[in-house]
Amino acid sequence: MLHAKLKQSHRFLSYNRQYIDEDDIRAVSDVLRGDWLTTGPTTDEFEKKLAEKTGARFAVSCSSGTAGLHLAALHLGLGRMSTVIVPANTFVATANAARLVGANVVIADVEPDTGLMSPRTLEAAMDRATRCCKRPVDAVFNVHFGGQCEDLSGLRDVAIQQQAALLHDACHALGAELRNGNRLKPIADGPIDELSVFSFHPVKAVAMGEGGAVTTNSERVALGLKKFRSHGVERNPHLWENKDQGLDADVGPNPWYYEMQALGLNYRASDLNCALGLSQLEKLDFFISERRMLADLYAERLAPHHAVIKPLTRTGYSENAWHLYVVQIDFEALGRSRADIMKQLREANIGTQVHYIPLFMHPYYQPPADSKPAADIWPGAVSYYASCLSLPLFVGMDEEDIDHVVGTLTQVLTA
Ligand SMILES: *Cc1c(COP(=O)(O)O)cnc(C)c1O
Repeated sequence: MLHAKLKQSHRFLSYNRQYIDEDDIRAVSDVLRGDWLTTGPTTDEFEKKLAEKTGARFAVSCSSGTAGLHLAALHLGLGRMSTVIVPANTFVATANAARLVGANVVIADVEPDTGLMSPRTLEAAMDRATRCCKRPVDAVFNVHFGGQCEDLSGLRDVAIQQQAALLHDACHALGAELRNGNRLKPIADGPIDELSVFSFHPVKAVAMGEGGAVTTNSERVALGLKKFRSHGVERNPHLWENKDQGLDADVGPNPWYYEMQALGLNYRASDLNCALGLSQLEKLDFFISERRMLADLYAERLAPHHAVIKPLTRTGYSENAWHLYVVQIDFEALGRSRADIMKQLREANIGTQVHYIPLFMHPYYQPPADSKPAADIWPGAVSYYASCLSLPLFVGMDEEDIDHVVGTLTQVLTA
């Protein structure tokens, strides 16, 4: 048996990180020298560019992906009587957005080999939801986990049975493309009544510090989202409700006037953050081609080890943006602890992570003690969670890094 000392000299590889260059630094400095720090012309430019890159007609920027999800929930009119379906395998923010407006969250299972909610698991959750809540489901918050998609037309068919709205948490999927026969189209090029939400946190494909956006093909929806992101205040005279208050018979709109029409928040993005986002978006195609190249290298290097280390199944419904590189390892069958494997990898300067702890395992979302075991309600999520591990994947990694990760992982697993 080989007791080779793990290579420790390698630079630290985090599971994901931002890529910042001199153009980004210059773009932010330029804003600092200008007149606008918060929402101004650079925010408009960023939104235009983002709409172009995602294939949506409109993009409404905001202060984070979480804020974007909350804005979308407000726009959909969800509230205390509403039921929202959320897949088990996601970051807590997806479900929290529904809870923040008081909605009831029903957790859907995911496919064990992709971590994605499928038409099958959605249908099962819709049945469970109608049985327990005794009313139709109001919205489905789908997640493009890892940067790839499930069968969206299949999900649509299930959602439509109960006239539930469909929202996509696309925080992992900026740069992904939907496959339509031989054709590819950008991720948010979809039906007029579907929203997509993006995040620009530093681990996401494009970094803004903190930032997010909601995309839509409807101008009416875009205007509504903008209202919610700024206190529910309307500044456009054409959209005022109290025209007698806002308009002077001779002069036109009163110069001081604006009106609050709904309860909103301050979720605006700033020009400082949008300058970084805009500069980063210019590099999106490069970022995605690098990530695809690295993912293909992983797949190639892992191929001889598939019996032990299995990359997630590629669905074929999309070209992946590769937010994460997740492999599945049957730690239990190997008699190994994931925590110990992660610790040994960390000692070789390899950062790994687990995406995600299923929603129903968090104390806040956990089912009552007398309900059925989690493995009966969500077998796919339980099996997925037991085996998943996200390996380092970020722009700036090279072939040598991939070899270091695969070499070390196989060595640690067989030790
Ligand atoms: C990152 C992320 C969010 C939240 O985005 P923030 O910008 O960090 O608020 C929501 N959902 C998913 C799936 C994410 O990965």
